[in-house]
Amino acid sequence: GTRAGIVVTGTEVLTGRVADRNGPWLAEELRRAGVDVGTVLVVGDRPEDVRGALGYLAGSGVELVITSGGLGPTADDLTAAVVGEVQGRPLDVDPELEQRVAAVVERLMSRRGWRADPEATAAGVRKQAMVPAGATVLEPVGTAPGLVVPPAEGRGGPVVVVLPGPPSELQGMWPAALAAEAVREVLAGATELRQETIRLWGTLEAQLAATLRAHEDGLDGLEVTTCLREGELEIVTRFAPDAQPAYDRLAAVLAEEFAATLFSTGPTLDDLVAGALEDQGLTIATAESCTGGLLVARLIERPGSSAWVLGGITSYANSAKEHLVGVPGQVLAEFGAVSPQVALALAEGARARFGTDVGVGITGIAGPGGGTPDKPVGTVHLCVVGPDGQQARSVRLHGSRTAVRERSVVLAMHLLRQ
Ligand code: ATP
Ligand code: MG
Repeated sequence: GTRAGIVVTGTEVLTGRVADRNGPWLAEELRRAGVDVGTVLVVGDRPEDVRGALGYLAGSGVELVITSGGLGPTADDLTAAVVGEVQGRPLDVDPELEQRVAAVVERLMSRRGWRADPEATAAGVRKQAMVPAGATVLEPVGTAPGLVVPPAEGRGGPVVVVLPGPPSELQGMWPAALAAEAVREVLAGATELRQETIRLWGTLEAQLAATLRAHEDGLDGLEVTTCLREGELEIVTRFAPDAQPAYDRLAAVLAEEFAATLFSTGPTLDDLVAGALEDQGLTIATAESCTGGLLVARLIERPGSSAWVLGGITSYANSAKEHLVGVPGQVLAEFGAVSPQVALALAEGARARFGTDVGVGITGIAGPGGGTPDKPVGTVHLCVVGPDGQQARSVRLHGSRTAVRERSVVLAMHLLRQ
């Protein structure tokens, strides 16, 4: 199959000041296009760093390399120059591109009300308009143009696609990169893969691995990857169209073996919660103690959630539970703030105060302090009250304060999807 490598440049990414979003995004895009990506290299801003990475990938025999970053006007932006050198294509100013970049820069500066030394600006623009001989220019999304640079005649090696670092610019330029002649030629040999996702909640990775091993004979042609995140086991399967029957077999096996924990054959937990509420036309509000608004924030993160989320109350102190949510003082006194009774009263209070169909209450001890022998750290009570009655869960979660709070939210989301 077709193989590609990715070079992410930037000292800020190397040091972790900026988390790399381009490597994973590009790898995913390429894999979907049927290209095998085995390497993502993160390198600093020095020419020898970039040169070394390109040399390594060329030596590994990949047919395509994508680089991200280092296309700006400043001195540490040198990807184009290094790629030109490695590909045996000397750089020269493209006068027409220079004019286009100048126009973009001018527009940007006047829109933001910036002023700069015209000479310095012109030098920056000229730098961004330096194009390796015979390379294809990808129209700038920000100010930096991208490049598709095949190796010089008779030189061999991968086609190198040079993209800007800011993720929105890189993603915006990607369709143009795919459409470039040299890239199309490389991708012609790749078959676009199908991708399906199955989600389990409450199954161990080892159990899944055993099941996959037991059925491995029937699974030829499937690339199965699993990822355990937030207690959810996500099983992603990629396959060429002719392996569809093998995938159908796998899906049937999983549905049978994990009937109790398989909760989705595609949609995410958030999709399912949104779908359940939207389909029934229900509105929702929360009253959260230990999660401090994480649940309502997660619900609101979804575009369009304003149609069904009315709001949430962060009622951390007992006085807030009592006065803001309306938890009866005597329930707090009798059972304590961390109790199923208070979770129920929070859910009912949220529902009443916001006038929603559904109310959610969460109360617990996130730790690290505050535990007692009968209410240890990690004790969490959740309750969902809706038109058809209530659902409650009481659990003992493990892990740090952050982990307990995050897991509580996931639990609440699973209660809501049902
Ligand atoms: P510019 O013209 O903005 O300088 P550039 O192509 O030179 O574009 P870089 O200088 O490498 O890009 O990066 C600019 C900014 O884009 C970085 O400071 C960072 O905020 C963001 N960025 C770059 N690379 C990545 C990456 N791999 N993941 C996430 N953000 C990135
Ligand atoms: Mg830069």
